[in-house]
Amino acid sequence: MSISLRTKIISSFFIVFALLSFLGALSLYNRNLIYDGMMEVEDASRDLKYISDLKLSLDMAVMPANDYLITGDPAEKARFVELVKDVEERFSLLKGAGMYDEGIKTAETKFGLLKQKSMHVLASLPAVHNRRDAALMEEIDALALDIIANHLDRVYLGKRDEMSYRVEAASSLRHKVDAILFAVAAVSFLAIIGVAAYLFRSILRPIDELTRGAAIIGNGDLGHRVDIRDGIEMNLLADEFNRMAGRLGESYAELEKKIDERTKELNEANGRLKALSITDGLTGAYNHRHFAERLEEECKRSARYGKRLSLIMSDIDHFKSYNDLNGHPAGDAVLAGVAECLKDGIRGQDLLARYGGEEFSIILPETGKEEACLMAERIRARVRDKVFPNESGQPGGDLTMSFGVASCPEDAASAEDLVKKADAALYRAKEAGRDRVECA
Ligand code: GH3
Ligand code: MG
Ligand code: MG
Repeated sequence: MSISLRTKIISSFFIVFALLSFLGALSLYNRNLIYDGMMEVEDASRDLKYISDLKLSLDMAVMPANDYLITGDPAEKARFVELVKDVEERFSLLKGAGMYDEGIKTAETKFGLLKQKSMHVLASLPAVHNRRDAALMEEIDALALDIIANHLDRVYLGKRDEMSYRVEAASSLRHKVDAILFAVAAVSFLAIIGVAAYLFRSILRPIDELTRGAAIIGNGDLGHRVDIRDGIEMNLLADEFNRMAGRLGESYAELEKKIDERTKELNEANGRLKALSITDGLTGAYNHRHFAERLEEECKRSARYGKRLSLIMSDIDHFKSYNDLNGHPAGDAVLAGVAECLKDGIRGQDLLARYGGEEFSIILPETGKEEACLMAERIRARVRDKVFPNESGQPGGDLTMSFGVASCPEDAASAEDLVKKADAALYRAKEAGRDRVECA
């Protein structure tokens, strides 16, 4: 299931907020618990103090009567009244603190008795060496001992035990709270780290994937696609990215197709241009420049591999007179017709060129002189047999051609030499009366 990035960010924020709030609330609750424990300790310690102060005051309250019996000082009575007030206040403090139980009540009643007896002692005369009061004083001491030992100490010890129990409970509560808070804080910390990591992963992983994808496509792999399934926004981004890469790939393919087409057209045009540049426009035979290059190559090949090579030079007989009689356009038509005749007479590997005005040359690779002369003879007969317009006006009544043949290696070692030798043979053919083949 895809979750949108917005939802992820908002819910992560709420999770962190909830965890921190929980931690805060727990701390507050625990603080209150500890505070309550401390208050209980404080209450117990206050109660303990009340009891122990009462014990002390009671001890003190016995003294004026005792001192009066020894010194006879009447001021002891006033001191006693003060101390009684103090003891009574301390009893009322116990009431206020809710410690006034049956035992304390009995103690207070007994203290009333102690007060009466003490007042009796403090009022009697003479004070010193009074045997009856000395016995009474012993009763007062026993009464004070009874109140403290049998009533107040019971409460005192109870309060002391309660106090140590409260202190222990507060301390154990504090340790428990510390442990709980630490555990919750640790869990919250881990959860927050987990949420943060999840969020980072949700954002950074798709960005990394997109960056890597862009780099791969940038390096020319237009078929590459990114695969991101990390939330609605990231999925959309990945889909758009892939769509863009797809469009880029299609455009690139179209462009490549167009370039291929254009290259093909260009190559064809170049081919045509090259053919035009080496072809004679009127006759369709190769031109002189191409003839010279090819003859050079063939001569070298023949020399290197010891192959035979022949060259036929030919010239239309009395062509000037044809032009004069029929005009140059008709002469041009004859040139084209003669070229057709020559083309038909040669083989695939042979090369026909227009050497000059009405002169044609034929390169015959891997052909000996004998074979070349036979071919020249066959071509001569073809030209002679072909019917040209108004050829009856030519000397002899026919349009004819003369041929000179020379071969490598027997007649020449270079292209230039070979041309010269074939030309010389052609000249001899002209001299000998034309319409014939002469071999070097
Ligand atoms: P021969 O070769 O038999 O000795 O006599 P010829 O009359 O053919 O020789 P010449 O060298 O005196 O004349 C060649 C003529 O070829 C002259 C020129 O008018 C003609 N010629 C050369 N090039 C062309 C061309 O492109 N078109 C036409 N119509 N005539 C051309
Ligand atoms: Mg000529
Ligand atoms: Mg001629």
